[in-house]
Amino acid sequence: MSKTCAFITLGCKVNQYETQAFRELLKGRGYQEVPAHGRADLYVINTCAVTSAGEAKSRQEIRKAVRLNPGSEVVVTGCYAKADPQALDSLPGVGLVADKSQLIGLLTQGEKDSLLDLGISDFEGHSRAFLKIQDGCDAFCSYCIIPYLRGSVKSRGLGDILAEARRLVERGYREIVLTGVHLGAYGRNLSGVSLLDVLIRLMEVPDIHRIRLSSLEATEVTDELIELMASSPKLCPHLHLPLQSGDDYILKKMNRRYTVKDYLYTLERVRSKVPMPSFSTDVMVGFPGEEPGHFENTLEVCQAADFSRIHIFPYSSRKGTPAAAMSGRCKTAQLKERKRVLENLAQELALRYKSLFLGKEIEVLVEEEPYEGVLSGYSERYIKALFSGPKELLGRMVTVKVTEVFPGYVKATWKGEL
Ligand code: SF4
Repeated sequence: MSKTCAFITLGCKVNQYETQAFRELLKGRGYQEVPAHGRADLYVINTCAVTSAGEAKSRQEIRKAVRLNPGSEVVVTGCYAKADPQALDSLPGVGLVADKSQLIGLLTQGEKDSLLDLGISDFEGHSRAFLKIQDGCDAFCSYCIIPYLRGSVKSRGLGDILAEARRLVERGYREIVLTGVHLGAYGRNLSGVSLLDVLIRLMEVPDIHRIRLSSLEATEVTDELIELMASSPKLCPHLHLPLQSGDDYILKKMNRRYTVKDYLYTLERVRSKVPMPSFSTDVMVGFPGEEPGHFENTLEVCQAADFSRIHIFPYSSRKGTPAAAMSGRCKTAQLKERKRVLENLAQELALRYKSLFLGKEIEVLVEEEPYEGVLSGYSERYIKALFSGPKELLGRMVTVKVTEVFPGYVKATWKGEL
């Protein structure tokens, strides 16, 4: 009787990718996967430490797994396992706390130990496949714990990346989302190969319909990348460019490598070549020293940037980062108020961006059937569309006409044939 395993993943796209790699390693060793929160002989919990909320959620999932599976092996890995193994080791019922290299070594009997050695052939439970091409970061933004946990920039070989993309296309994935800890730093530790080279070569892989960049720094949007985005139907006209703050004084304290002027100029350069590009972003509220005036500047810059989506992060102090030692922390009520104000603006801007497509046709990769007879999926500009249609469309690219717009999604009609 084969053993069963279950996976819980917290945090970013890179974590989800690495869980898929662990999944394939365990299946290769004869394990059968059961749904998360089901009974399993082995539980692998891939944790997150990017915020205190990520850590709290990780502990919550660990406790739940232990409670649901008395006597099962609960293995905890991920960034939190690297950041504070003792804290996790002390949780009742945890069998093993191992950082990912240790876990890879265990699952491959010592054959491999680097995260970059991990590969995937499938991306279960998703219609778009994440493809990790890079790990680590050397930027040391003052609030960020990641460089201390994931180490310096490391990039996968181009051959590996292309082989993996072909495996995923063979599996039927039509959209590939390039991901990494600091994607734009791809190639910095290699000679003569850059992110642009990866994109150009991936476009040559037959049957890849879309390539999406998960996130880039505004400073990494080169003219060549903009040209490629403007000329190739495969490269999604959607850029996720973390802004973090709209105030130069705060950006300096964050050790971010651009000014507000640089950032907005990047958007202008893209808009001058790419039709209706979609810009999503991350904004942190309540960074130490952020006064009401600094926050006002952030609101103004978000307006000027006309974002299609804003992910809002209340500042979360990370032990060992320079920002953790900075004074001028916001009171919780202030933090909540700034988050509320920015959320309202984010909704307004999201609605404004989606209104550009009212009455227009957009192409959607059909991902889910949230309700009987209603399908949903994302366009190349990362607009979520809901429309009536048959299940047979799941996993396919279809053209729909936008009939109604809302901050979070659009309603549309599909007139196609099966
Ligand atoms: S670029 Fe900055 S925020 Fe992003 S992972 Fe690196 S240090 Fe963290």
